[in-house]
Amino acid sequence: QGAIAFKDVHFSYDPARPILKGISFEVPAGKTVAVVGPSGAGKSTLSRLLYRFYDIQSGAITVDGQDIRKVTQKSLRSVIGMVPQDTVLFNDTVAYNIRYGRTSASDGEVFAAAEVAQIAHFIEMLPEGFETKVGERGLKLSGGEKQRVAIARTILKAPPILILDEATSALDTTTEREIQTALDVVSKNRTTLVIAHRLSTVIGADEIIVLKSGEIAERGTHAALLERN
Ligand code: ADP
Ligand code: ADP
Repeated sequence: QGAIAFKDVHFSYDPARPILKGISFEVPAGKTVAVVGPSGAGKSTLSRLLYRFYDIQSGAITVDGQDIRKVTQKSLRSVIGMVPQDTVLFNDTVAYNIRYGRTSASDGEVFAAAEVAQIAHFIEMLPEGFETKVGERGLKLSGGEKQRVAIARTILKAPPILILDEATSALDTTTEREIQTALDVVSKNRTTLVIAHRLSTVIGADEIIVLKSGEIAERGTHAALLERN
């Protein structure tokens, strides 16, 4: 479930300046496709279009064969989990932030999701644990901790589709490696679109697309791309 297809997608923020110039690719259900390329190539724009922050000007984006313009934004987003580069949390408790979008989840479910995201080790040290308000009484979360909260939220939501938009780009190398481990667990068996800066961070992807100036310059597995370059 959750197969994604981009079919000859054209998009521009400003009509005078095309950003995506006929992009076609598929992410088969349960597989991972990574988009890499230089800054400004249009990578994040791809993920924003799939999440429908903007609508495309021509072509089509489909999920399970259905044009995403023909479903409500709410139902589209209910099947997509998004972990952006810099997660912005609500000024509320850690538990509230994890539960966001699935308010009916039990404490046990929230805790289980937090364990997979490896939040427990820093939360446990706090007297009020999950019920401590983010930003209050010393609970200042680091960039990596915020990403863990975003991952726990995604685990709890359990969407068939995952968008990881430079989810580890803002982190130091050690934290990046830890977060990557959690993301590998979450993306397993989920249809995943990864936006990344460096080829070295997406070695395991089923296909890698190299985007340059809004066009697909190259595509293939990590091994195939290395061989050609
Ligand atoms: P990448 O993720 O590959 O760095 P982006 O998709 O963020 O690239 O941006 C592609 C191009 O679109 C860039 O030239 C950028 O300046 C432009 N752009 C991005 N967001 C907007 C926006 N909201 N309005 C106008 N131009 C934008
Ligand atoms: P709904 O309208 O179905 O309640 P929301 O738009 O509130 O859905 O958000 C659903 C999910 O999408 C949540 O997990 C939320 O964190 C995520 N989300 C919403 N807006 C953004 C955004 N700007 N960037 C990244 N994730 C977002």
